[in-house]
Amino acid sequence: MTQENRLALDNCIKCSICVSHCPVAKVTERFAGPKQNGPDLERFRLEEPAAVHPSIGYCSNCKNCDVACPSGVSISAMNAKAKGEYVTLHGAPLRDKILARVEQMGKASRLAPSLVNRLGRIKPLRVLGEAMMGVSSEMTMPTYAKKTFLEMFQPKKITASKDKVLYFQGCYVNYNTPEVGMALAAVLAYHDIELTVEPFNCCGLPLIANGFLDVAREYAQKNVSKLQQYIEQGYRIITTCPSCNLTLRREYQELFDLDTSQFNEQMMDAFEFLNLLDQRGELKVELQELPKRVGYHQPCHLKAAGCGIPSLETLRHIPGLEVRDLDAGCCGLSGSYGFKKEKYPISQEIGQNISRAVQELAVDQVISECGMCQLQVHHVTGAKVYHPIQLLAEAYHLA
Ligand code: SF4
Ligand code: SF4
Repeated sequence: MTQENRLALDNCIKCSICVSHCPVAKVTERFAGPKQNGPDLERFRLEEPAAVHPSIGYCSNCKNCDVACPSGVSISAMNAKAKGEYVTLHGAPLRDKILARVEQMGKASRLAPSLVNRLGRIKPLRVLGEAMMGVSSEMTMPTYAKKTFLEMFQPKKITASKDKVLYFQGCYVNYNTPEVGMALAAVLAYHDIELTVEPFNCCGLPLIANGFLDVAREYAQKNVSKLQQYIEQGYRIITTCPSCNLTLRREYQELFDLDTSQFNEQMMDAFEFLNLLDQRGELKVELQELPKRVGYHQPCHLKAAGCGIPSLETLRHIPGLEVRDLDAGCCGLSGSYGFKKEKYPISQEIGQNISRAVQELAVDQVISECGMCQLQVHHVTGAKVYHPIQLLAEAYHLA
């Protein structure tokens, strides 16, 4: 954490607004809350790292506290740092070491993705996994795609492309939902925009959330040096995953002191980029009618990015489409958090607001930008959940 962020401690006016906005503190007493685990204990941790309280493991890194704090205290970064100190001092279970290595799990799945998916559905195996490893046997497991996005993507040379765009696809799109990346590629090609892709390391968020800051820092350094080369050549970097975006733009700077100042201008959500095209009058607005009512779930990390909801700006061009904001707060899964046996009940209790909203609004399907939110919304509601870019591709007849 930078000195500046540490000094932000003194900005805490002890109003406890962060506590009332913390979805975890609302449903469990096992977590002391953002104020207590954040600025209150940080004062002690600055003097004595061993003062990290084990309840820090219950912070889900959703960042709702940061959004709510009127004084701009970086509470979630303090908690992530404290979690790192706790893991350095006390170690971490094998389960967390595995769940944090999303990139390696994706690579390993390539040997036999269908088999991995089948094994993930065998209940007795899941029960054994819960007993031996502490991975919830109840949570729906993500499925791996037969081909990765990087294997499926066919580069298209567009000589008249007005923008040079690089896609940071993230692990979940690459290994689990390549259809999201393919939908983006199709939408951009339809607008004569050339898309460049590259293999990147995981953004590091699952490592950060599990307290493995040293490994995350290595990934961050590699990603930053690769991305900077593109930025120097005039590329924009776009993402479809709000968590990757926030990690690259904010966490790298807050946790690892990396200079990501250029990212703030050149890196954006895919829909921020599409809205830019719209402002330039270059977005094609002849779209197929989609007469359906769709629920929208805003991922916490998109809210924390402070860029509004750019996808809804674009989707309003689709005739017949009714988008209803679920407005139900955090989904509760928070990456690997809800897969952990002891945290699964917490994540489900948080997710009940989504379940209620989907029922009340009687939506046909749900859209959300975050892959993990998509999984949790499907898990708690049974609804079909897509990335908004898939809906846009459908309205362009590109799906
Ligand atoms: S990051 Fe989320 S879970 Fe952690 S303290 Fe903040 S609001 Fe609570
Ligand atoms: S919301 Fe901010 S200022 Fe208020 S108690 Fe929490 S950290 Fe302190």
